[in-house]
Amino acid sequence: MSNLATSCLINVLYKLSKWIYNGSCYKSVTKMLGVDETVKKSIISYKRLSLLVACTLSIILLGVLRSQAYEDNSMEATPIFASSDKMVQTMTCMEEMSLPCEYVEDEDLYIGENIVVKEAVTGIKETTIMLTYSNGKEETREILDEEIIQEPVARVVHIGTKEKPRYIVPVENYIFTSGFGARWGTVHCGVDLAVPTGTDVAAAAAGEVIQSGWNGGYGISVYIRHDDGSITRYGHMSETLVCVGDKVSQGDIIGRSGSTGDSTGPHLHFEIRIDGEAVDPCNYFDEDIKL
Ligand SMILES: [Zn+2]
Repeated sequence: MSNLATSCLINVLYKLSKWIYNGSCYKSVTKMLGVDETVKKSIISYKRLSLLVACTLSIILLGVLRSQAYEDNSMEATPIFASSDKMVQTMTCMEEMSLPCEYVEDEDLYIGENIVVKEAVTGIKETTIMLTYSNGKEETREILDEEIIQEPVARVVHIGTKEKPRYIVPVENYIFTSGFGARWGTVHCGVDLAVPTGTDVAAAAAGEVIQSGWNGGYGISVYIRHDDGSITRYGHMSETLVCVGDKVSQGDIIGRSGSTGDSTGPHLHFEIRIDGEAVDPCNYFDEDIKL
């Protein structure tokens, strides 16, 4: 039901109640029915009867107002004053509040890497408003009270700004035979590039040699530490051409491929480790790997 209709109904009932309570109603009815007023008065006072009717109408009025309040599930309206042409209502509104997402630059993350560090929480605000109507039309609207029921929390996302290191593929004319990841019940920490024994193996990026020579399952291998702290590993070679402590540039030939260590055929096993963790080299090469 609209506010206008409610306001009109209140006015009608208010005037009707007044008419009944003053006895006008009773007198009119008894006159119309031709009942002797003195007899009736001896049984029940017309004022008591009128009061009973007025109470009944008040209960009906209360019911109407309650149903009006339930019509809108986000608001609860209570009229606090009504006259023939003016009405004042208080209204309580629940409002959702949200904050814009916050983006924070993070130099520890590579460009393209984003991490959500905090999830958003929707806030709730309760506002109490006083509305004034005149002849069914809203006249004024005043905020009486505002209360934050739940504080909103912004979603926070860290955006990587660190330049991603780029590495060249260490051998040419290779056949990609094995990728990074789970293999034969274990994890293959690099990629296998099949090339004939004796093929030149180049440094994928500039850096310092930190291991050169026989190295267990890697066979004859070379490790290079780069300026950003990442390490590349070259395994199963037939010979190395560098010593620990050598500084190499990107593309320098550091050894020749082979099939030493745990190897089933001539190939170069190549790894990249960032912060000690092996990563998929295919994501860091400066060209698309030939699969
Ligand atoms: Zn391998």
